[in-house]
This record gives sequence, structure tokens and C-alpha cells, in this order.
Amino acid sequence: MNQTTRRTCYACGATHDTTAARCDCGEPLWIATPTDGFWDDWPAGGPDSMWRYRDLLAVDPPTGLAGAAGGTPLVRTPPLDHGGVRVHVKYEGANPTGSFKDRGSAVGVAAALDDGAPAVGTVSHGNMARSVAAHAASTSTPAVVLVPADIPESRLAPIARYGPTVLRVDGDYGRLYDRSLELGADLGVPFLNSDVPLRVEGQKTLAYEVCETFAPEVPDAVILPVSSGGNASAVWKGLRDLEGAGRIDRLPRLYFVQTAACAPIAEAFDRGDDAVERVERVGETIAYSIANADPPSGTRALAAARDTGGAVLAVDDDAIRTAQRRLAREAGLAVEPAGATPLAALSQLRETGNVEEGEDVVLVGTGTEVAGGEVAPEDVAIVGMDGLRERVEDLLASE
Ligand SMILES: *Cc1c(COP(=O)(O)O)cnc(C)c1O
Ligand SMILES: [Zn+2]
Repeated sequence: MNQTTRRTCYACGATHDTTAARCDCGEPLWIATPTDGFWDDWPAGGPDSMWRYRDLLAVDPPTGLAGAAGGTPLVRTPPLDHGGVRVHVKYEGANPTGSFKDRGSAVGVAAALDDGAPAVGTVSHGNMARSVAAHAASTSTPAVVLVPADIPESRLAPIARYGPTVLRVDGDYGRLYDRSLELGADLGVPFLNSDVPLRVEGQKTLAYEVCETFAPEVPDAVILPVSSGGNASAVWKGLRDLEGAGRIDRLPRLYFVQTAACAPIAEAFDRGDDAVERVERVGETIAYSIANADPPSGTRALAAARDTGGAVLAVDDDAIRTAQRRLAREAGLAVEPAGATPLAALSQLRETGNVEEGEDVVLVGTGTEVAGGEVAPEDVAIVGMDGLRERVEDLLASE
């Protein structure tokens, strides 16, 4: 048995010895971070991956892809500085399947192997599905991925390539989150859904890495996209661990960004509510990875934003498109639309005085575009061999 069953509740403070995802109070649990013998060695050193923090993870890494998760670069991006704010991008696209989900999948699959689970599962038709399928494949663990029945083939192929059992489920996809956890508990198959304790546990290493890179300073703010609230909770947990161990003396403010088409957490924040309510209508958005209308860790994300003095905000598709283009053209970083939302939010935050001149702000840039994207005709040209020299000379002359 691994040490992942001691769990605590951020909301009511209870401690449980359980494999359940939720506390009696209804809020999600997180795994109690082991505290022995690690913190004296901060900054940590060790392998260039999330496993430099293995003493804080309650599981050992399995051989295979897990060893490649995390250890992503923090890139200083001066062209993206805004109103005197210094911008850094934590490039999570450098993870094995292109998103921070790999950190959570690595820990989830490690724990499943420790426990002798016959398989792992997840409910996702995007980055999480690809990540779980890849980590399962690399440890010869069967995986089952539940996707909506009407998933387009273009989104199915990137998941199916890793060989999981993909089930296209006919019915209310929103209800599958709970149904899969029940089914998984019955069958002993861990479902590594968006905000389950094992996933959150792995993804907290994102916060450790950011703080370690800045040590002994602390960045003023971290901005990240939010959908289920799982990753927001993970980053908050990582920061709380560091503060609890006396390794940082203040928490960066956490700003979470949603797409305006589906923003239940931002709306609850604006209203000053204590809990996030499901929104009924979801509009079209290019930021398909962050359109959860009923975020299971929404209320926890709300608490994280408030606790750190941050906020939750929404940005529209035009702003996301512009930010995505700027990240590629001014920083050389390709991210999917959801991964561009933090940059889209930065100007809003600067204008409202949430972030100030002279501050260091970290944007979590995640989700590499594996395929797709748009090319405007004026961005590319066809030229014959004869015209080549002239075109290059034109380019030099225009600089
Ligand atoms: C999963 C994901 C998110 C949202 O994370 P949550 O933990 O569900 O809030 C945001 N951006 C990308 C690229 C993702 O893959
Ligand atoms: Zn509780």
C-alpha cells in the first residue's frame, strides 16, 4: 500500500484515512504531503523532472514516461512585458504529452501500480485523455478513456494512438465524472479525473518548480487557465506546502482565467459567492480545454484565489487569439488557445491595478498544439527558385 490514503480537507480541516476523493463536508480532499527530511535541502537539486520532489509525493516513480514529466523550463519573455510587469512563462508544453496533466498522470499511474490496480481510467476527450493513455501505455497498464459519443475523429485519433480502450459514451457527459468514480471504486480501477487527489498531488510540483527557480525570491503572481479547478488547487497546495515548511515567506497571488463562454468560477468570484454553481448555457469557444460548466473543484479554486489575494477572471475568444499569436510570434512558444488565456488576462489585470509595475508574473503556458491552427494567406507566399534571392534581400532590407 502506498501512502496516498492520508487525506486532508482544505475547507473544514478534517483528516481522513481514505481512498475517497471527497470529504464528508462535500469538498475535495487532498493527500497529506509527507514532511520528513526533505525541506532542509531546499532548493532541491536532483533530477531534472518532478521526481526531484519524490520525498514529497508519497509514491515512487515507475520506470517509463513518468520520469520525463515536469522539470519544464521557466522562460523569461521580455517582448511580452506589459506596463512595467516582467513576464515569465512556465512552459508546460515541454511535458511528454504537452500539458501539465502529465504530472498528475505520472503520480496517478504510479499509485495504481503500487496498489496492483488492474487498469486506470479517465473521463476526458482532450489533454488528460492523451496523458493518461500515454502513461498507462509506458507501464503496460490497461487504460479506459470515456469520451462523448459525438467526438470528432480529429480529436479521437490523438487519444487512440496510445492504444487505450476508448468508450464513446452516449448520454449526459457531465454526469460521467461522478459515475466513473463510483464505478472505479467498485472495480478497483482508479479514475484519474481532473481534480482527484492523486492528480492534484502530481500537479502541485508545478508550484514547487516555479518557486525553486525564483528562490530565494517569490514571484508576485502566477496566472493560469482554469476549468475543473484541479490544477488551480494543485498549485495552491504546492504553495501552501512551501509556506508551511518556511521555504517561502509569502504566497504569490493566484489569478485564474476562464473563457467568457463558460465562466462559472469567475462569475462566482464577481458575485462574492462562497460556492461555485453549475452554469447551464455554454457558448462556443476556441478554448475547448477550459469549458467545464460544473467544475468539481470550482469552490476550492475560488478559495485559492481569495486566500492568496488573487482573482478569477474571464477573457473572450478575440483576446485569446491575439494572445496565442503573440506567444508564438514574440516568444516562440506554441500553445493551444486555453494556454494563451493567462497572457490574454495580463493586460486586464494590469489595467485594473491587480498587477503593478516592477512585479514578476509567471504565466502557465500549457497545451502544445499537436495539430491544427490557422494560417492566414498573407502569412505564407509561394515563390519560384528565381525569385528566392530577391525575397530574402527584401526581408533583410525591411529589418
Ligand atoms: C486541463 C487543462 C486546463 C484546465 O485544468 P483544470 O485542472 O481542469 O482546471 C487548462 N489548460 C489546459 C491546456 C489543460 O489541458
Ligand atoms: Zn471537509
